[in-house]
Amino acid sequence: MIAKILINTTAKSLNKVYDYNVPKELENSVEIGKRVEVSFGKSSKSEGIIVKLIKDEENNQNKEKEYVLKDIVSVLDEYSYINESRLKLAKYISYIYFCNVYDALKLMLPPGTTSKNQSKSIYTKQEIKIILVKDKEEIERQIENKTIKSAKQIQVLRFLCENNYVLQKDITSGLGLSKSILSTLEKNGYIILEKFTPKNDLLIDNNIPRTEKQIPTDEQKIAIDKISNYIFEEKYKQCLLFGVTGSGKTEVYLQVLENVLKKGKTAIILVPEISLTFQTVSRFVSRFGDKIAILHSKMTISQRKEEYKKIKEGKVDIVIGARSAIFAPIDNLGLVIIDEEHDSSYYSQSTPKYSTKEVAAYICKENNAVLLLGSATPEITTYESALEGKIDLITLKNRPAGATLPQIELVDIKEDRLNGNTSVITTKLKEEILKNIEKKEQTMLFLNRRGYTSYLSCKDCFHIFKCPNCDVALTYHKNNDLLLCHYCSYVERAVKVCPNCLSNNLSSGTVGTQKIEEELKEMYPNIKILRMDADSTVSRESYQNILDTFRNNNADILLGTQMISKGHDMPNVSLVGVIGADSMIAINDYMASEKAYSNLSQVAGRAGRKDKKGKVLIQTADTSNYILQNVENNDYEGFFKEEISFRKHMLYPPFIDLFLFEFTSKDLNLVKKEANYMYNILNNEKSGIYTVFSPRTPLIQRINNKYRINILLKARASNNLYKKIYEKLNIYNKKRNNKVNMTIVKNPLFIN
Ligand code: ADP
Ligand code: ZN
Ligand code: ZN
Repeated sequence: MIAKILINTTAKSLNKVYDYNVPKELENSVEIGKRVEVSFGKSSKSEGIIVKLIKDEENNQNKEKEYVLKDIVSVLDEYSYINESRLKLAKYISYIYFCNVYDALKLMLPPGTTSKNQSKSIYTKQEIKIILVKDKEEIERQIENKTIKSAKQIQVLRFLCENNYVLQKDITSGLGLSKSILSTLEKNGYIILEKFTPKNDLLIDNNIPRTEKQIPTDEQKIAIDKISNYIFEEKYKQCLLFGVTGSGKTEVYLQVLENVLKKGKTAIILVPEISLTFQTVSRFVSRFGDKIAILHSKMTISQRKEEYKKIKEGKVDIVIGARSAIFAPIDNLGLVIIDEEHDSSYYSQSTPKYSTKEVAAYICKENNAVLLLGSATPEITTYESALEGKIDLITLKNRPAGATLPQIELVDIKEDRLNGNTSVITTKLKEEILKNIEKKEQTMLFLNRRGYTSYLSCKDCFHIFKCPNCDVALTYHKNNDLLLCHYCSYVERAVKVCPNCLSNNLSSGTVGTQKIEEELKEMYPNIKILRMDADSTVSRESYQNILDTFRNNNADILLGTQMISKGHDMPNVSLVGVIGADSMIAINDYMASEKAYSNLSQVAGRAGRKDKKGKVLIQTADTSNYILQNVENNDYEGFFKEEISFRKHMLYPPFIDLFLFEFTSKDLNLVKKEANYMYNILNNEKSGIYTVFSPRTPLIQRINNKYRINILLKARASNNLYKKIYEKLNIYNKKRNNKVNMTIVKNPLFIN
């Protein structure tokens, strides 16, 4: 028997498949989609995936050739998660996102696979978590230049690069390696070993009581019937469920899911990573019980593997998870729900850089399934498609059970300053907080991370403490007196003296959450304030604990960045204050305004649920700004109209597709030269099928010691366009410099 094997290699343009001989003793364990170990090129132990098997009698090739074929060394997987249709999907992803087929296939494999004697236990009292402290590319470089030589160390490091949330036992019993390798890696500064007790807050064995479905409102009923009909007809269809926060979208999902199960089909529900909390999951579990599997990147590898197996064996009908759950190995798919479809976590930021919505649309089309997108503030592109009739638009206008929308008001900071208030909290907001405390109701205060991180600088010579690896200022953390880089994780202890002029007159920049907390405590000494920074490395558990404490009414004020706004029903919150709206609307990227609009609306939506009327105060120096005005009037359509005309005028999506060619290298001259080389190839095109712009330096020129240069190409994505780009890539590859990394991102989240 001969196996056609796709080899896992980082080399570009190696999507080729190689023939290997299947030794007799392995004939029973080979299967399409299983990973195998083979020798390839100079490497004696390469990993590959079987993509085709040819029995001897079907083999028309020259018999003699078989002798030169190498044997498969071993079969690595017990189960195959990849079939013909998955292979097709991987090829599609590899084509439209310019990545290796193997990278695309990896998305579909259960996390951290190898040896058969996997540890079965899911719960252990105390575990040791392995945290990788060096970045992927650095490690690959060190392997290449032989700084790291030990094969076992390399195996562990590569495993860590590819898997989140790895425990010590995944290495010891999973890969069958000894603990001493880990101690060596820790000693040499590659990893940190951290003790922790896993808390299974997402899994089902929490005895969640069953709930019955609610009687749908008229609007909900129309939505449920319409979507369910498409499912019964088994027709591919995209629907947008457009309804404000609290309008009962989740109830619609639940009742549509019921119909999916009635039809004998299955469903995948995607929610933003950060909303994948116990509350969210339990709403589904309370209706459908153990028919549900949950996939979350923060679950341990063995937990996720168990879930994968359950799905594969057909034991579940519903999969809930973050972005990557779209690749769950579920059969008989009838529905995919993407909740909060505007959320940026649906764009993968690592290779393959895919759009979950685009991939989901492909999967649904292949399965004649329905793709249901839900949002209060749809992405501009999605809403435009809905208005054009490409997506079915279904609207929920009212909150059920008589709950009302909050009253939103812009508060002019400039006016407040003129009246002599120097605090970052305006007089008006102070008054409202006080009233709320007296009423024993809760308040949430939001800051924007960009505007309110603090930097350390010298007041005498204006020296700013910058990251040695990146072109950004370091963020100052008062708690532990550290300076941190958010781009490369560089850390240093803050000093008391300026290294430039030796002055000790250092200032810690703008106001952060800590300063605001101090100020609030001064005003109301007895109140209880909870603070959640995006900056401090908040672990998942403490994040959940803070939210739970607040939700259970054990604090008056929750202070944090907009990360605290996502997906939590906070029944006792009646006041929301936005402290730093201006920094949210001042970012210059083509998607920045829609992100600002949706963040602000989401934040506002936290106020007043159920029977409480909520109030929202947004502090700004620019009360005439169109984003803020439309947020104030709760007018998504108004915002959409202004935004879409801007996009049309400037030629941005949805009127065009963007392809960003990103070049990175340690050597500034090399990266410039390489980008120019590609630019000349791209620019040498007379057909007018695309417009290419000359190479530009992004806002941050250097990240983690790598210089960056981009080339932007604008065109309508089409078969002909792709053919053209691949043609250009072929020319490029002939003389490319392998010291410069080049990736192409389709419709990136940022172009700066
Ligand atoms: P969304 O998902 O749009 O934010 P939810 O589905 O969470 O909205 O609904 C908001 C609140 O309204 C929830 O507390 C939910 O239980 C309640 N609710 C939803 N539909 C109904 C209904 N038909 N009748 C009564 N209450 C409902
Ligand atoms: Zn100085
Ligand atoms: Zn840095």
